[in-house]
Amino acid sequence: MPTIDEILEHKLFSIDNLVTLLKAEGADGLLLLQKAGELKLQAVGNKVYFRGLIELSNVCEKDCLYCGIRKSNNEVKRYNLTDEEVLDAARFAYREGYGSIVIQSGEVTNETFVARIEQLTTEIKQLSDNKLGITLSLGEQSEEVYCRWFAAGAHRYLLRIESSNPELYRKLHPTDDHHTYEQRLMALTLLKKIGYQTGTGVMIGTPFQTLEDLASDLQFFKDFDIDMVGMGPFIEHDDTPFNTPQADALPLSARFNLSLKMVAILRLMMPDINIAATTALQSIDPLGREKAVKAGANIIMPNITPGSYRNNYRLYNNKPCTDEEPEQCTGCLDARLTLADSEIGYGEWGDSQHFKKKDKG
Ligand code: SAH
Repeated sequence: MPTIDEILEHKLFSIDNLVTLLKAEGADGLLLLQKAGELKLQAVGNKVYFRGLIELSNVCEKDCLYCGIRKSNNEVKRYNLTDEEVLDAARFAYREGYGSIVIQSGEVTNETFVARIEQLTTEIKQLSDNKLGITLSLGEQSEEVYCRWFAAGAHRYLLRIESSNPELYRKLHPTDDHHTYEQRLMALTLLKKIGYQTGTGVMIGTPFQTLEDLASDLQFFKDFDIDMVGMGPFIEHDDTPFNTPQADALPLSARFNLSLKMVAILRLMMPDINIAATTALQSIDPLGREKAVKAGANIIMPNITPGSYRNNYRLYNNKPCTDEEPEQCTGCLDARLTLADSEIGYGEWGDSQHFKKKDKG
């Protein structure tokens, strides 16, 4: 079996070797994170780009077994931001010099919703003189809908595959027609075809997941030639079917370490993509996102949802910063990132260099 050094040196990213990397502990584990951090600096530099995250609504037509805003959760108070609140949040991001915003929401597929997103996208482009980049994360939609939003000015889309193993996917979702792996994959394929910079990702440490599954997820990102990835630890939510850890569940600290290794390995496999340091990391370790930046991530999504709604967009227990207003985020993040030897790419889109190269080629 090759050593960690050999795997990295010769880029021997077979499933077996990826599992070996995911198991790396102690000095080997540190070496992995360090090599990934170094490669990031070479490939995409030390800038971290902000995407102001606007959590538009927690109304959702889906019933994913792990998610706190699933349709069947009657404990959650459903909300919808007003248009003015969304536009205000976008103005805030623009003023603060964030290069881009992300509009995320539970999944809704009716025409009212589709037209609303189209309109908001157009208005945000106008109010920012075309300068704010817009990423959408609004679940599975039809090709026509994705095309309309793209035409209105959204240029990136995030849709996590959640698991690239269809069997595991089935265990994490209800078995009805609205929750098939095939549909999710088709949506991702459409996004790429339409011309979005396409982002995907998985949760780490879900029930039933093995290290081989995570290794296959990494392979999937590479084979799909993805432009951006966001991955984070799975964290139980009290009001879901997965509310208590299973007997063989990894402790949160192990899910956290595994998440850092996933970021690092992916950076080594795909040096020029954008990788997010996700909020779920921060809910386990207060410096979680900074640690991910050191291990290869280059994107952070500060929450700019108006404070009063934040507590209701609770995907998992202990989601951080739900008691803050947007103004408090920037200063806090600035200070933290200095710790990670990074610079913030204010006023820049920070597009995926991987995507740009494909575009030219
Ligand atoms: N409706 C959109 C956005 C979903 S929420 C969509 O379908 O893409 C964004 C992400 O939160 C999900 O893709 C999922 O990976 C993550 N998430 C949901 N529940 C979670 C949990 N309990 N722990 C960690 N991450 C979770």
